[in-house]
Amino acid sequence: MDKEDLKNLANDPKFIPGIYNYCDRWCERCSFTSRCLNFAIDEERFSDPQISDISNEVFWQKLSEIFELTLDMLQDFAESEGIDLDSIDIEAETQQEKLNKETAQNNACVRAAKAYSEMVASWFDSADDLFKDKEDELNLKVRLAITGTDPHKESVTVEDAVQVIRWYQHQIYVKLMRAVHGELAEKPDIIDDFPRDSDGSAKVALIAIDRSIASWAELRNHFPERESDILDTLVHLDRLRRKTEKYFPDARAFIRPGFDEQVQR
Ligand code: SF4
Repeated sequence: MDKEDLKNLANDPKFIPGIYNYCDRWCERCSFTSRCLNFAIDEERFSDPQISDISNEVFWQKLSEIFELTLDMLQDFAESEGIDLDSIDIEAETQQEKLNKETAQNNACVRAAKAYSEMVASWFDSADDLFKDKEDELNLKVRLAITGTDPHKESVTVEDAVQVIRWYQHQIYVKLMRAVHGELAEKPDIIDDFPRDSDGSAKVALIAIDRSIASWAELRNHFPERESDILDTLVHLDRLRRKTEKYFPDARAFIRPGFDEQVQR
């Protein structure tokens, strides 16, 4: 795909502009893949299984081509907008960036999100036997064909809950970091009533928190022997949810392209 192909693809009206800016990147579970330019580009570039193999040299070669293409497009964009890319004061920008990053890392929401990702890691580290026992229990139920039980459904439910928790484990931190960091950069340019990118990122983090809470509640039902530490995790997540809503009071109302709009399928 060259620059022209990419431009033509981007102009296809079936794509919802900017939908990929406020999603969770879980394309396998996304109901907007056919309306997402980002997904279409990935499909176009990486549909060959050989290319999908991260260890394959072709993969990195393709990535390198995307990099070159992006630089090319960036140059065109800068020229059309009258931006002199060479004029940026790299040193001052770097200092400010470093300061903003440190400030964001010390934000209470960001620290709580980081702590959450570590809690999840240690919980799963300690849960190997738990999942093994659950598997044995479900296999036994299948063998005995116990009436009133649905081991397959139970297995899928547990697996789904684990997948959701794992998917968002680090993403909550990443999205909150982006939200707080973005808010620091946005401050001088804030225009009242104009949607703020930081609210969009915070909303994605909040949705990830909501879904993680629901998934932990599901695990609690299936692993009553771990109720105490699951409850600790739920309390931590709920506090994080409240803190985030307080810090970004407009986040829940942010309209994400596609996801929060009435769109024709
Ligand atoms: S909008 Fe959906 S398909 Fe597009 S990048 Fe996000 S998750 Fe993937």
